[in-house]
Amino acid sequence: MEYRKNEMVTLKIEDCGVDGEGIGKADGFTIFVKDAVIGDVVTAKIMKARKNYGYGRLMEVLTPSPDRVEPACAFARQCGGCQLQALSYEKQLAFKEKKVRGHLEHIGGFTDLPMEPIIGMEQPWHYRNKAQFPVGRNREGRIVTGFYAGRTHSIIENRDCVLGMPVNREVLDRVISHMEKYGIEPYDEMTGKGLVRHILIRYGYYTGEVMVCLVVNGNQIPEEKQLIASLREIPGMTSIMLNINRKRTNVILGEHICRLWGPPYITDRIGNLRYQISPLSFYQVNSFQTQKLYEKALEYADLTGEETVWDLYCGIGTISLFLAQKAKFVRGVEIIPAAIENARDNAKLNGISNVEFFVGKAEEVLPEEYEKNGVYADVIVVDPPRKGCDQQLLETMVLMKPQRIVYVSCDSATLARDLRYLCDRGYELTRICPVDQFAQTVHVECVTLLQKNVD
Ligand code: SAH
Repeated sequence: MEYRKNEMVTLKIEDCGVDGEGIGKADGFTIFVKDAVIGDVVTAKIMKARKNYGYGRLMEVLTPSPDRVEPACAFARQCGGCQLQALSYEKQLAFKEKKVRGHLEHIGGFTDLPMEPIIGMEQPWHYRNKAQFPVGRNREGRIVTGFYAGRTHSIIENRDCVLGMPVNREVLDRVISHMEKYGIEPYDEMTGKGLVRHILIRYGYYTGEVMVCLVVNGNQIPEEKQLIASLREIPGMTSIMLNINRKRTNVILGEHICRLWGPPYITDRIGNLRYQISPLSFYQVNSFQTQKLYEKALEYADLTGEETVWDLYCGIGTISLFLAQKAKFVRGVEIIPAAIENARDNAKLNGISNVEFFVGKAEEVLPEEYEKNGVYADVIVVDPPRKGCDQQLLETMVLMKPQRIVYVSCDSATLARDLRYLCDRGYELTRICPVDQFAQTVHVECVTLLQKNVD
């Protein structure tokens, strides 16, 4: 049977798609229903229909699933940032394990997966150490800050995101009241006029340090002294910055940073190491779970102190320095120059000297170093962005024949593709451990170990 647009259908949700959407069947017709969870019986309105499948909008939950929970945030559905808030945390973890398994089996063609249980969070709320809030006016003309309503650019007021740090509220209240008091305009994307675009907040999870960075369409902020005085009353306030972004773009941050008060970075700790973080640098958003992730990577690297290690896509050198404590020498490669500056400073800050950092694309630096200088590796660690590793890089890794490759990934689909490539060329997948860095969302991080087959 076929369904048509706008038709209402009642169905039981039997499965969950990779983006967290509920999946059910009605008369052999597969229907994807966002916001429905496995076990729900729902009515949905068909929004889009194809021959054998369609997309429905959740209209009513007739019988709630035993795994359904009340979302902690009133805006969970509108925002779209948390796709899994209506699912119990335990089942979120099960979903993520299954997602990783599914990708490795179906895309990677692996069987008998050496999976370890997913490392879940103890407290799956208020874990994000970085948040970026857009600023604008609502229909009534009031200055608002919060989040963009799913895939649009209209701002819904919410200063209490349940993934963010509690301190965010205080920062937002003070910035917005400063704008109201001195008549400072929020930026308007339609006209390109107005000043304040975004409020970026970073928090040092283990140090309690707070950075506020206002993204502005200008060079300064009116009544700067009053703003600084007000923000400094917040406990932990360490660094107040401006980021200049005068472009008509929806890229949030511009290239220039201007210091208003305090150093241009905050410091956080992971394990026994300290890291300075600038407004523009990449830093893992969940400090608590990052430590677990890195400990797993270190365990897989199995270092004795004699090894030469490459850490590709190294960001501010977090993994590199973690490994350097147990290795003979570590070389890190990263494309963003500012992150490499942070990495070098962080090495000094921690008194670590057996590291060297390169700015450039991993897929260019490693082949070049290998061909020209014949560099060697006992262990290679990679932690690429979602698109995974470039083939050129994988080819060089195979030529270098490291004993172990530790692949840290934030996208299990590209992970599966890259692992297949390596396992067809002399490596065996021996350990996999998913780590939940992003509770309430569909995202999942993974650490995997590949060992060189005996030639
Ligand atoms: N390992 C780090 C960063 C991981 S995020 C950590 O745990 O914090 C991935 C990093 O890869 C980002 O810093 C990004 O800037 C960098 N990157 C993206 N493409 C790259 C490329 N082609 N070569 C090298 N680095 C790249």
